[in-house]
Amino acid sequence: MGSQKEDWISFDSELAKVKKDESDGGGGDPLNDMNDIPLDEEKPSPPMPAGKTSADNIIAEIGVTSHEEESSKSSRKGSTEFPKNGRVSIEVDETKVMKNGKNIANISPINERMAWIVPPIYDSTKQHPAVAAAGLPQDTYSLVIRHITEDIRFKSYIIGFSRVLPFWIIFSIFILLFLLLTSPDGGFWVMVMTFCWMLMLFIGIFFCVIIRKHLRIGLAELVGEANKHLLHYNLIAGVQDRGQLSCHKVVIIFMYYESKECIVDIEKMLRIANSTAKPKPILMTHDEMASQCDQLLRGHIQPYIKSFVKRRLLFPTRPAEGVSDFRPKHCQKNHCLCQFVEEEYFNAIKRTWYDRLI
Ligand SMILES: [Zn+2]
Repeated sequence: MGSQKEDWISFDSELAKVKKDESDGGGGDPLNDMNDIPLDEEKPSPPMPAGKTSADNIIAEIGVTSHEEESSKSSRKGSTEFPKNGRVSIEVDETKVMKNGKNIANISPINERMAWIVPPIYDSTKQHPAVAAAGLPQDTYSLVIRHITEDIRFKSYIIGFSRVLPFWIIFSIFILLFLLLTSPDGGFWVMVMTFCWMLMLFIGIFFCVIIRKHLRIGLAELVGEANKHLLHYNLIAGVQDRGQLSCHKVVIIFMYYESKECIVDIEKMLRIANSTAKPKPILMTHDEMASQCDQLLRGHIQPYIKSFVKRRLLFPTRPAEGVSDFRPKHCQKNHCLCQFVEEEYFNAIKRTWYDRLI
C-alpha cells in the first residue's frame, strides 16, 4: 500500500513539477508545444481547394475516371449511338480494334455463266459475316448492295469502262480492212481514205476517254450516295473491277473507316479555300459548309478505295520507295480520306483545259 501511495504521490509531485515549469515560463519552450496533443490532432489536413471537402474529392476523382473511360469509348465509336446493353458493348469492342482502312469483306457476284455478256448479280439478302460483325444491320446491308448494283450507272461502268476502248479499236480495224478490200487498185484514193480512217480512229479514242471519264464520275456519285447509309456505322464501300473482259470479277469492298476526324480536316481546308477564292471570298453558312464537306468526302470514297486496293496510297517505308508529301494522319499505312481529298480536289484546282476534259 505504501508503495502504491508513493506512486500516487510521485505522480502528483511530477504533475506539480510540470505545473511549476509552466508557471516558470516553460510554456515558451518549443518542446512543450510539440507535446501538446490537442494541437497535434488539429494538425491541418492536406491542402484542398476552397469549398471542397474530402468526400467531394473522392467523388470528383471517380467522376473523372469514368468520364475518361467513356470519352475513350466514344472517341473510337464516333458518331454512333452509345451502347446501352452488354451485347452492343461487345460489338463496340470488336470494332474498336479495327484500324481505318482495314478491308473487312469483298462481296463477289453469285452468277457464273456468260461472264463476258451478263452483268453481275449480287445476293443482298445474305449478309457477309464479317460485315455483320462490324455492326451493320442486315436491312442497311441489303439497301446498300441494291443501291449500288441495281443502278444503271453501275451496270454502265461494269459493261463499258474497260471495253469501250478495245471495242472501238477493233471496230476501226474492221473498217480499215473493209476499205482496203473494196479498193483493190490502191492509189491516191486509198491514201486519202486511210488518212481519214486515222483521223476517225484518234477522234474515236478521244471520245472513248471522255466516255470512260463520265462512267467513272457516275460510279463515284453512285457509291457516294450508297455510303450515306454506311458512314454512320464507321464503314465505307466501293467497287473494284478486277477483270478486263469478264463482268463477274467486279467486287464490292467493305472497309472500316472512322471519318469523323477527316471531316473536320476537310472543313478546315474548305474554309481556307473559300477565304482565298478569287475574285472574291466565298461565304457559306454552317449547313452549306457541312453539306459540302459531306459531299466531298463521299464523292471521293470510290476513287479512294480504287487507289487504296491498287496500293497507290501507301506511305513509303524505305528511302528507295521515294518521299511522300504527307505523313500518316488518320490512317496508319496509307493516305487517309482527307489527305486524298486534299490531293485530288484542293491541290488539283489549277488544271489545264486538257486535264479537265479527260
Ligand atoms: Zn484524314
